[in-house]
Amino acid sequence: MTPLITGIHHITAIAGNPQSNINFYSGILGLRLVKKTINFDSPDVYHFYFGDELGRPGTVFTTFPFTGARKGTKGSGELTYTAFSISADSLNYWIERLKKYGVSVSDVLTRFGEKLIRFEDHDGMGIELIANDKDSRPGWTYGQIPAENSIRGFYGATLNLRAKELTEKLLTQHMDYRFIGEENGRFRYGTEGKPGDIVDIVIDKTGNRGMQSAGTVHHIAFRTANEATQLEVQNILMKNGYQVTEVKDRNYFKSIYFREPGGVLFEVATDEPGFAIDEDEAHLGELIKLPDWAEPSRDRIVANLTPVTLNPEAYA
Ligand code: ZN
Repeated sequence: MTPLITGIHHITAIAGNPQSNINFYSGILGLRLVKKTINFDSPDVYHFYFGDELGRPGTVFTTFPFTGARKGTKGSGELTYTAFSISADSLNYWIERLKKYGVSVSDVLTRFGEKLIRFEDHDGMGIELIANDKDSRPGWTYGQIPAENSIRGFYGATLNLRAKELTEKLLTQHMDYRFIGEENGRFRYGTEGKPGDIVDIVIDKTGNRGMQSAGTVHHIAFRTANEATQLEVQNILMKNGYQVTEVKDRNYFKSIYFREPGGVLFEVATDEPGFAIDEDEAHLGELIKLPDWAEPSRDRIVANLTPVTLNPEAYA
């Protein structure tokens, strides 16, 4: 049977200053800002989508940035590290690049036989770059970053939980995930077990809850092909006792949300229609795009947003 869920669709975080957010993800990490819109549930806040050149599912890190947001804290019930995938020989390029921009980088770590580095953005958001030779997604060029060193998309995500059993059951019995392996208290799950679909659970023995604010993840979205498969997922989850929202129209995909037993907000989002629905592929992210219902209030909405500039070329 064709799986209903095929990996990670996007990961959404809360951030502070919008310009700093663009500088970090677009300028330093070289992700393309593929959409500049508003938080549909809170229209006074931006919603930025950073991804590969088209914002393909599995590459899109999104943020709700607002100036003056207090910093959150990592803790249990949170997605604490978002891992991106880079080619096996790109690690030194990234260590040099991050140091050049004053980002404090961990020593090179090894996990499941692959080398990685860990660092935080200016808001304290946990990021990892995992060097590997399992990623078949091609490199691409953005700003000043050569294609061979580009971030290919997500590798996976780390969920920091008090216990794993109920979340493991959800992933493996209702979401097409399977257990892949365990290393040093890190339990790994994947749909196929390749970059873009990995979910790791780490048991947080302190049990301290995190505080969700700037520098923490708001939710993780998993991929499903289309509206029909999404309804199948919704039905399976509801039959198994999960409180799932109705389908919400996010313009670039359709979404359902529910809270997994460990406390992390999960979303299941459709691969269709994607970010080229309201902008030409060559000009993604240049204008502030609003959903139809917000267009009548465009002047007021835009007046409340801090203007930002996009200048990836400045990050040599
Ligand atoms: Zn989302």
